[in-house]
Amino acid sequence: MSELNHYISLRHRGGVLDHPGVKELIVSPGHKCGCCHGNGWFWGVGDDGQSAKRSCAMCGGSGELTALVSIEWQRSKASVEWDD
Ligand SMILES: [Zn+2]
Repeated sequence: MSELNHYISLRHRGGVLDHPGVKELIVSPGHKCGCCHGNGWFWGVGDDGQSAKRSCAMCGGSGELTALVSIEWQRSKASVEWDD
């Protein structure tokens, strides 16, 4: 079987508003829920004792998830002293 993978390539691009501590948020929708394997539900037992579909607690029944990836850029060293 095939599997679609998503990768994040980390590279600081720089900009006039950048400063240490600046944060980026990457929103990646459309990931198949790993709990229900994209079905959105599980078989369970209903109030009447019969088999019933139970909504997946992770994806809420959609079968998909959105990943929110937060990246914070910091200096590699706490401070840099320059010799003049
Ligand atoms: Zn699910």
